[in-house]
Amino acid sequence: MRMTADREVCVGAGLCALTAPEVFDQDDDGLVTVLDPEPGAGQRAAAREAAMLCPSGAVRVVE
Ligand code: SF4
Repeated sequence: MRMTADREVCVGAGLCALTAPEVFDQDDDGLVTVLDPEPGAGQRAAAREAAMLCPSGAVRVVE
């Protein structure tokens, strides 16, 4: 499982970083950064939830 985040479509809502703070962060402009693109077992549920919650569809799960 791999996480991707498209900074071109991110609107800086921050839900990803709130939901999976070990996987996603936001830069100084509020845009998503991926801290851990291949989350371990303990982070996968949160990472999937972040992808579901992202309002812009920027966060994606690649199986
Ligand atoms: S939840 Fe989506 S739109 Fe919001 S900061 Fe994260 S990637 Fe960007």
